[in-house]
Amino acid sequence: MNEKYIVEFKNVDKIYKLENKSKRRFAPKKQFYALKDVSFNIKKGSIVGILGTNGSGKSTLSNILAGISSPTNGSVSIRGEQALIAIKAGLNNQLTGLENIKVKGALLGLSKKRIQEITEGVIEFAELGEFLYQPVKKYSSGMKSRLGFSISICLDPDIIIVDEALSVGDKAFAAKCMDKMNELRTTGKTIFFISHSINQIREFCEDGIWIEGGELKAQGKMQEIADLYENYVEDFKKKSKKEQKQFKEELFEERIVK
Ligand code: ADP
Ligand code: MG
Repeated sequence: MNEKYIVEFKNVDKIYKLENKSKRRFAPKKQFYALKDVSFNIKKGSIVGILGTNGSGKSTLSNILAGISSPTNGSVSIRGEQALIAIKAGLNNQLTGLENIKVKGALLGLSKKRIQEITEGVIEFAELGEFLYQPVKKYSSGMKSRLGFSISICLDPDIIIVDEALSVGDKAFAAKCMDKMNELRTTGKTIFFISHSINQIREFCEDGIWIEGGELKAQGKMQEIADLYENYVEDFKKKSKKEQKQFKEELFEERIVK
């Protein structure tokens, strides 16, 4: 392992079992590469955009980066505390916003004093008012994203992973989150950023990773990676419907574990 890197992925596979089409009880389940032989290294303080079409493996990668999921094969080394900011980022629906903060802090083994500080930070940043005392199941998706983002940020992690979380909810809060992210990018935090908006990724990120069909297609400077990716998407769009279908089927077939 090389100390220079905050994140190292070496030959990482993530394999899921696919449900059978057939109703036969003992039919063997096919196995599917959500990620296949992915290797890359990231330096501390990098701002990394992750590109890839739907189903390419971005969220699988995010979850491994966040330590929520572990690889099936290969090795992952992460030198820092991570926080994942995603639409479904580990909020307990039965608990209130406030209870969610306390539980998260307790799970991380933080002191009472630290949890109190974080709570005050979340109250200020999330601006949920009285809703902080309501169960999360009564929140709108925008309110969940407010709470999730605020908790993750106030935990002051070394590595922040944003998986399409800023696209839901209200514009004003999304802008406030982007301001916060811009502030954090100057403080030596390592940030992984996934967004529907390729322009947002181009603006925000310096380095880029592109995964397609579960495999690492390219890694390099963000602008170059985004150009490659956009060309790929354009080429795909130029294909006929029949060619597109065939292309997708081949990509899928390559992801079945043989
Ligand atoms: P992305 O975020 O790039 O859209 P994902 O990482 O969510 O892609 O998914 C990659 C592939 O892995 C998809 O084909 C998806 O259906 C599959 N997948 C993701 N999670 C699971 C799971 N828990 N069980 C089975 N398949 C999964
Ligand atoms: Mg995803």
